[in-house]
Amino acid sequence: MKVLCVLYPDPINGYPKTYARADIPAIKNYPDGQTVPNPHAIDFIPGELLGCKTGELGLRKFLEGLGHTFVVTTDKDGPDSEFEKELPDADVVISQPFWPAYLTKERIAKAKNLKLAITAGIGSDHVDLESAIEHEITVAEVTWSNSTSVMEHTVMSILALVRNFIPSHEIAKNGGWNIADCVERSYDAEGMNIGVLAAGRIGLGVLRRLKPFGVKLHYSERHRLPEEIEKELDLTYHENVESLAVNCDVVSIHAPLHPETEGLFNDALIGKMKKGSYIVNTARAKICDRDAIVRALESGQLAGYAGDVWFPQPPSADHPWRSMPFNAMTPHISGSSLPGQARYAAGTREILECFFEGKPIRDVYLVTKGGKLAGVGASSYTVKK
Ligand code: NDP
Repeated sequence: MKVLCVLYPDPINGYPKTYARADIPAIKNYPDGQTVPNPHAIDFIPGELLGCKTGELGLRKFLEGLGHTFVVTTDKDGPDSEFEKELPDADVVISQPFWPAYLTKERIAKAKNLKLAITAGIGSDHVDLESAIEHEITVAEVTWSNSTSVMEHTVMSILALVRNFIPSHEIAKNGGWNIADCVERSYDAEGMNIGVLAAGRIGLGVLRRLKPFGVKLHYSERHRLPEEIEKELDLTYHENVESLAVNCDVVSIHAPLHPETEGLFNDALIGKMKKGSYIVNTARAKICDRDAIVRALESGQLAGYAGDVWFPQPPSADHPWRSMPFNAMTPHISGSSLPGQARYAAGTREILECFFEGKPIRDVYLVTKGGKLAGVGASSYTVKK
């Protein structure tokens, strides 16, 4: 079989020879008890850089050992890209949301052999799920693999915005000591109303991590959390996103991108938020209207916007989110920490082993299967009717 894998480019100074730390913590279970990926073996050392071209998700020895063809490329966009050239006879496509191989309707129509599209990570909106369903392609992601990585990035981003960390750091780095300039936009999170849109794995983890900050916690979800969790975290539930948005000082977005969530944070909704609110979005860029975010930051309606998700990825050099005021954007990195990579590389291998051996892929990894939404796809996504 032919496995086509799209990965982000190596570091500009080349693949690392040494790492900042000797090892990474060994995690056996996720917070809900789900076990971490358990392939028969791995051919990498956890903590190595795996998500880039040379890292190859640690899969080459395994795949070539089974006699499969393994093509790895970074060149993924446009009709002349290596991805587009290799796609027509590929049986399996693998890519990460950080450097997504967009599997559009047109590309899926050309990929006559395609049976399995693996998201090495979480979030499979870069695949046209309706077309995957139509062509009975299995789409799978590595549920939980990097959820905790994103929770940590989210809490960091909320604090960075509220406390005005990044501009203050810039002043220190540039030789300044302008304390008044730093603190004229610096607040405490304590006492603020902070809410999440979607309290799934990441959203709930963010709420739990924020609890010790002495904030008032809110959430909006399609399915309400169990009463004991609401009590434990003293949560206020909102039946819709508007109620969440108008009652919070900070809203953090953790829903997948699908027809129900696309474009939710537009001029109208942001206009109803308290003046000086903050939005953090580590879910998917298109849940927010790109230009509405810029307008709201420029007018002061929003005091800050942070996140690591853009559209498209990579964004153009002049994407307005690079330069808009009061932003704490990073490239899409929150789910690609070295521990996150180790887990989603092992999970990708687990999925491939199941596929080649004809064994079922863990249900919780499935997004589509057999011509319909399945597993995490059935619980967290929708498709256009
Ligand atoms: P989960 O599937 O655990 O959680 C998603 C939650 O979203 C579910 O609880 C679901 O609710 C809820 N949801 C879906 N649609 C709506 C809606 N219309 N309104 C309100 N809630 C909704 O996924 P994770 O928490 O692990 O990940 C969430 C998303 O985060 C991913 O889909 C991905 O897009 C993004 N992500 C980003 C990463 C990064 O590096 N920045 C890395 C990992 C993930 P219910 O079950 O009740 O339907």
